[in-house]
Amino acid sequence: LDYETGKGWHSPRVVPYQPITLDPAAKVFHYGQTVFEGLKAFKTADGAISLFRPDMNFRRLNRSNDRLSIPPLDEELALAGLKTLIGVDADWIPAEEGTSLYIRPFIIATQPTLGVAPSRNYLFMIILSPVGAYYAEGINPVKIHVESDYVRAVPGGVGNAKTAGNYAAGLKAQEEAPQGYSQVLWLDGVHRKYIEEVGSMNMFFKINGKVVTPALNGSILEGITRDSMIRLLTHWGVPVEQRQISIDEIAEAHRDGTLEEAFGTGTAAVISPVGELHWQGEKLVIGGGKTGELSARLYDTLTGIQRGTEPDPFGWMVRL
Ligand code: PMP
Repeated sequence: LDYETGKGWHSPRVVPYQPITLDPAAKVFHYGQTVFEGLKAFKTADGAISLFRPDMNFRRLNRSNDRLSIPPLDEELALAGLKTLIGVDADWIPAEEGTSLYIRPFIIATQPTLGVAPSRNYLFMIILSPVGAYYAEGINPVKIHVESDYVRAVPGGVGNAKTAGNYAAGLKAQEEAPQGYSQVLWLDGVHRKYIEEVGSMNMFFKINGKVVTPALNGSILEGITRDSMIRLLTHWGVPVEQRQISIDEIAEAHRDGTLEEAFGTGTAAVISPVGELHWQGEKLVIGGGKTGELSARLYDTLTGIQRGTEPDPFGWMVRL
């Protein structure tokens, strides 16, 4: 799909995967005016093809667009386009348990003009790739480094938009994290103590029987898996608090033995149990470094809904 000021979005087309040609002065290269999304299609147990909450992804794409001064997309048209694209070849969706088709919609600013101003031209594309099971050998806890030098986002910035610069800004911290810590947990950019999120996951903690997760504060991504977990937990009668949580509160709960579980949520893994947090040289081992009961139940339920082996009480799955 192309965009031109005055003409709007136009020329939808499906083409074979191939390199594209851009002018070296295209604004996206210089000023980072770009947004993206990530979602999955599944082959369900009965052989049908289903998308998981795709309306949420296109709604979030438009929120990111708004923050990056990119014109909005017609969400229903974008979803219809995605369905057409997937329908081209149903065989590229793998059927084995745990596998899926990863879908990456994105927009880039293509106007070939240097000068800091919103582009007059854009290109919206969707690329797709089959992905294998995230946990080929069973759900596996990760070790996470709590970052104290760099920050990812600040109030009023672009932290709640899914835009390239947020990820570029995080690479160095990930690279410098001590060995064995594959991911970085970000703290807020002002007080440098409130939990924000992990590279591509929202964070949850189970403290003394209650689940807490950072409130949407404008600098973390509004995760669709995060929303789904909150809904499932509430449905089950497990209390969930969305509020500020400091790293000191987590360290204290660890010390007094009330930190029962920690987990990250995101499209790729669904759930990543956190077995250990590394904070200022201290190793906080959580739940004996093993997957917690609640994490396992959430994982089984959500992946079951996605595969069509569990009831879908919220109508999340959209059949093609
Ligand atoms: N935070 C960030 C920064 C992310 O990139 C992602 C992945 N999209 C998430 C959280 C989790 O969001 P979702 O559950 O929608 O995948």
